[in-house]
Amino acid sequence: MGKHGIEILNLDKNELLRMLNEALAEEWLAYYQYWIGARLMEGPMRSEVEPELLLHATQELNHAVLVVTRIIQLGGTPVLHPAEWPNLARCEYEAPVDPYVEVILNQNLTGERCAIQRYQEIADFTNGKDHSTHQMAVTILNEEIEHEQDIEEFLMDLQRLKEDMRKFRI
Ligand code: FE
Ligand code: FE
Ligand code: MG
Repeated sequence: MGKHGIEILNLDKNELLRMLNEALAEEWLAYYQYWIGARLMEGPMRSEVEPELLLHATQELNHAVLVVTRIIQLGGTPVLHPAEWPNLARCEYEAPVDPYVEVILNQNLTGERCAIQRYQEIADFTNGKDHSTHQMAVTILNEEIEHEQDIEEFLMDLQRLKEDMRKFRI
């Protein structure tokens, strides 16, 4: 980004870059969490859940594009080694060792809640000080909120399905 674009920011740029690099690492881990989970997943509603998880994976990758673009604009260095992702990320990657749909969805749900927290913080930090990063954070935040809602709905439907099976002794 041009010098003036950086000069006008009324905040600690290094602190912001730290947060953005952590977010970048989290997006890549979230991408893989969805991408591998969707492929391993087994159980009811598979044909509905799988494409949605793959769509979410793509959306996480798009968040990584937004974040890395902003890091570079700010004159920062994006995380260069994938090996650093788990150190930078606050949202923990959970290996999908159990492929049951409910377990996979709960892993993704934990990730989404962590992402919501992350972008809420970046939005707060930049509010009224760095409009460009703020707008980006809000855009991503809205999508993470949507992701959380989608997963909660799948989990509710699965719960309902289990209750009905019990009730009607299917
Ligand atoms: Fe994301
Ligand atoms: Fe998400
Ligand atoms: Mg969705």
